[in-house]
Amino acid sequence: RAKEAGRNTLRFFLPSMRKFSEDQLHIQNDLRQALERGELQILWQPKHDFSGNTLGAEALLRWKHPTRGLIMPSEFIPVAEDIGIITSLGNQVLEVSCKLLRKLADEYTEAGPIHLSVNISPQQFQQADFSMQVAHYLKESGANPSRLTLELTENMLVTNLDEVMAKMVDLKRLGVRFSIDDFGTGYSSLAYLKRLPLDEIKIDRSFVNDIIKDPETVSIVEAIITMASKLGLSVVAEGVENSREFDFLRKRGCHCFQGYMLCQPMTDDQFLEFISEGNINTARANSTQSVFE
Ligand code: C2E
Ligand code: MG
Ligand code: MG
Ligand code: MG
Repeated sequence: RAKEAGRNTLRFFLPSMRKFSEDQLHIQNDLRQALERGELQILWQPKHDFSGNTLGAEALLRWKHPTRGLIMPSEFIPVAEDIGIITSLGNQVLEVSCKLLRKLADEYTEAGPIHLSVNISPQQFQQADFSMQVAHYLKESGANPSRLTLELTENMLVTNLDEVMAKMVDLKRLGVRFSIDDFGTGYSSLAYLKRLPLDEIKIDRSFVNDIIKDPETVSIVEAIITMASKLGLSVVAEGVENSREFDFLRKRGCHCFQGYMLCQPMTDDQFLEFISEGNINTARANSTQSVFE
């Protein structure tokens, strides 16, 4: 690199940079092996309606590194994208989610219809065979497609709109749902909201958390909820951390709530136990006072 920059340029290679790139190399190699070694884990963060009934959960990846400890997706998802393994990683999350959907439908009928949401990375979505992959996991598991929600981000929808549209229409034929994650943080265009076959938007955590502090955010969030309901989209609030945020959103017609105030992401076993206990009120009845009173 320094050489390529030209003979007249003097480049410094600082010790901290060296450390950084070595770390990057290690983390890349470790991540390649993590898949085979079973170090990646999916946690499930429940989502609730305004009275505490569990509507579903979002699949969230964690990496249990043997020496570095727990690594969060903000650190390793970009690495997985760089080294080109995000598609196989993301497809595994899809496969596991479909299997869990089937299990929930077979063994947890009393909990009512539980939906699962999966984050889809741009690279993964852009694969020519993405729709076929999804079809395959649905068929193989026997999951009800209408219980599977694919979370896309705004930025992946605005380039090659026709291609994106064709792919979404293909997937809609299978019966899956579409959500826009982190809504309001990307390149918003109200035109595509109308055109694309969307089912849900998730209000980004940054807006939810500013509701209390900032009157302008209040207006933005109100506008998002009104617009979504006029377009027939359901609205999920992400990162709901306290009852003031919750009450504000509930009063303005938000349908679904996800956040630490309600539930932390949990393991398979914890999630299944949680589901079988009924709604969040019964699950918490013996420990803390209900948050929904
Ligand atoms: P996201 O899809 O927007 O997921 C929501 C994030 O907010 C999760 O972070 C969740 O743990 C966190 N969160 C939930 N409630 C609260 C709250 O009340 N307060 C705060 N401060 N945070 C809350 P996490 O698990 O670290 O995931 C971060 C991002 O990594 C996700 O954002 C998603 O974009 C990405 N990600 C996670 N799993 C996958 C995956 O399987 N595939 C892909 N492509 N991306 C993933
Ligand atoms: Mg998400
Ligand atoms: Mg989000
Ligand atoms: Mg996010």
